[in-house]
Amino acid sequence: MQRLQPVLPALAEEEQRRTLSERHLIYHALCSAREKLVVSWSLSGTGGEKIEPSPPVEHLRQMFPRLSALGFDALSADALCEAKQPAFELLAKRFQKTDAQTQALKRYFAEEADYGARMRTMERAVKKTGFAFEDPANAKALFGERLRLSASQLETYEECPFKYFCRYGLRAEPRKQARLDPANSGTVVHYVLEHLLKEHSGKAFVSLKKEEAQTRIRELLREYIDAYMGGTADKSARFLYLYDRLEKTLLTVVERLLTEFSDSAFEPVGFEVKIGAHGEVKPYTVPLKDGCIELRGVIDRVDRMQKNGKNYIRVVDYKTGGKLFALSDVLGGLSMQMLLYLVALWRDGSGDYRDMIPAGVLYLPAKAAAFDTSRSVGAEEIERLRMDGGAMEGMLLNDADVLTGMSLDGSFRFLPAGVKKSGGAVTGNLITLEQLGKLVRRMDKIMAQMGDSLHAGQVPAKPVRGKTHGQTCEWCDFASVCRREHGDAFRYLPQMTHAESLEALEGED
Ligand code: SF4
Repeated sequence: MQRLQPVLPALAEEEQRRTLSERHLIYHALCSAREKLVVSWSLSGTGGEKIEPSPPVEHLRQMFPRLSALGFDALSADALCEAKQPAFELLAKRFQKTDAQTQALKRYFAEEADYGARMRTMERAVKKTGFAFEDPANAKALFGERLRLSASQLETYEECPFKYFCRYGLRAEPRKQARLDPANSGTVVHYVLEHLLKEHSGKAFVSLKKEEAQTRIRELLREYIDAYMGGTADKSARFLYLYDRLEKTLLTVVERLLTEFSDSAFEPVGFEVKIGAHGEVKPYTVPLKDGCIELRGVIDRVDRMQKNGKNYIRVVDYKTGGKLFALSDVLGGLSMQMLLYLVALWRDGSGDYRDMIPAGVLYLPAKAAAFDTSRSVGAEEIERLRMDGGAMEGMLLNDADVLTGMSLDGSFRFLPAGVKKSGGAVTGNLITLEQLGKLVRRMDKIMAQMGDSLHAGQVPAKPVRGKTHGQTCEWCDFASVCRREHGDAFRYLPQMTHAESLEALEGED
């Protein structure tokens, strides 16, 4: 500390010297005006946020209290044309006008080397031409001939190609704060479920007592925070409160799993199964005109049922956010992740997945259910709502052995299928093996189109819109750069029931 003493005044002196020198430069600039002095400042930053003028503006206001600030619009066009930058801003504002002054500005800036690209951008914005690379070779160089993608990258492209370009081409990322948000709480939930199910495989899991599960969940949460989050010492009270709440959520999820597995012939055989060039499962590959797409990813859980000499496999994904599965979305290129994972296992056909028959995909809500308790309901009813709020979404193979194996007592509790109260056949989100084959061909076509469009440099800001995707732009990090305006086109998802979606598949060759 003592050795720092002489340094600190020196630093302060240096800072003071720099401030004085800056003030001196400003003074010089202000005194250099021969006829008129115009002082201007920005009202907003590059991100659109409001910014305050710098101190000299305030000093001038104090010295000349009768001065009033004029808005950009109050300045005459002639005055703005005195300097290049304000003239260009004027042109940007009036780009669609046809008056002589705007045309003259266009001619002037068209010949200015530094402004060529900006002029072309404005022209594209006015003509609403979709974003595209001027030279597709640059797109190929950026994305690569062999497109190695995750399912969420694929989903982002199908949501909006420009969003994909910003996030995965430019690698633009919003700043993140270290806090317990849905993204990292999901990682904790995955960690606990993976360990708990691995430690109690097969029948051992079904015989697990609630108290035992609770104790182990608590231990695993503790292990996770110590190993991956630097312990509890520096965490805020709010963080620790949210973290504690995870224990309750996880216990509910485990109770649902215990109920479901006790009524199922399926048993978990794989956890965090990696798909990719270095994974346990070969990547899902789709050829492109030039190169290919290689899909990689991690399957949360793989369950297997062996029956009559056959190997039935289903894949399960733990969802901490809201997830609605609709086959019509898959036909529109969205929510393909789990189906692609299932098909990756099917195509790989090695190890545990040899000679397998794809039995279904399931999204398991790994969160507490929200339900309305405003009406007076008893403790038993609340318990039922708490458990049933965890019903899984997804799609099952329409096969008698599979459906019986998924629900031994025929209740189909937590499953996206059921038997009508009046009895009869099982209904719900079902698909035959033949229909699944057609769906796979449709998904391959969608992925091939995506890869070829990216290689051609097409990244239009054209977001998807549909019942399950009503707010693609509202939560987008790139809304400030994509120039999207009210009334611009969407890519509309067809709204179809499950049966209509299966019918739509019939035409697939
Ligand atoms: S705001 Fe909408 S159009 Fe713009 S990049 Fe995001 S999703 Fe695409």
